[in-house]
Amino acid sequence: MSTTWHILGAGSLGTLWATRLARAGLPVRMILRDKARLASYQAGKGLTLVEHGIEKTYPVIGETPDNPEPIHRLLVACKAYDAQSAVAHLQHRLSPHAELVLLQNGLGSQDAVVAQLPQARCIFASSTEGAFRDGDWRVVFAGHGYTWLGDAAHPAPPLWLNDLHAAGIPHEWSTDILTRLWRKLALNCAINPLTVLYQCRNGELQTHQCEVATLCAELGELLECCGQPDAALDLQHEVERVIHATAANYSSMYQDVANARRTEISYLLGYACQAAARHQLNLPHLQQLQVRLIDQLVARGLPRD
Ligand code: NAP
Repeated sequence: MSTTWHILGAGSLGTLWATRLARAGLPVRMILRDKARLASYQAGKGLTLVEHGIEKTYPVIGETPDNPEPIHRLLVACKAYDAQSAVAHLQHRLSPHAELVLLQNGLGSQDAVVAQLPQARCIFASSTEGAFRDGDWRVVFAGHGYTWLGDAAHPAPPLWLNDLHAAGIPHEWSTDILTRLWRKLALNCAINPLTVLYQCRNGELQTHQCEVATLCAELGELLECCGQPDAALDLQHEVERVIHATAANYSSMYQDVANARRTEISYLLGYACQAAARHQLNLPHLQQLQVRLIDQLVARGLPRD
């Protein structure tokens, strides 16, 4: 009998994972915030995945954090700013050798969870899959991609990667997951804040090439200083490639701001600026970018962190 996948967060990625695991016949339980969310969920037929315009509903069992059943494997699929407190609510249910998969973007939230759960195995993930909710308990699979998983403390892959294979979740075990997360963070810092400041799609940053290049140079310096030289390799080229390849898209941060949702700034640009300060590294353009972005968030009545 396979170990049950407990999934914390019935948002875009949580639902995307839950429906694919359920589709493969694997045991899945969705952990919802509270009784009210559970009642809302139970009033429907389950979780719906919309893929290539075809929708299918899976009757995944829902529960609240109060359920007494122990948790052996937990997929943490909430936003970075919710991860630590959401996991704290489940701490008493985690078995002594529980494994957690942390899907959060950026850096900082993973270390907070690791510090909170020294006994558990925490696997970090970095995903290029894209999904969004078009209603409660529904997700649209918008961008097929890949998920890299890794454990900086223990390089051996877990046996349950077979479950992901069975569920058709494209993935790879990575022995340099931190490098991948740093690289993604740097790409995000060079692109996403500017799309908010200029209120534009990614492609329009082609007209701000100098500013992008200056940020890439500072981000490269930061990565070197943080012991991540591989994440710094050819950064500017890759940023330009991403801007070109995703020219028609709005960045995730742009979309958060446009929809008046809290951003993950503290785990992206905020984390980068904090790391620079820790290393006493002067990165004036990156720091100025943070000031401008926070001003913009405050002006729109959004949290500054
Ligand atoms: P999302 O759609 O906002 O979903 C987050 C979910 O977490 C929400 O359903 C929320 O519940 C739930 N949640 C928060 N605190 C909770 C708690 N204490 N107990 C139970 N549930 C809780 O977010 P997302 O887009 O899936 O993103 C998750 C992470 O993946 C982020 O770090 C994001 O940057 C990253 N990521 C997302 C994508 C994507 O395409 N969406 C791609 C790559 C990476 P409510 O519904 O009750 O608010």
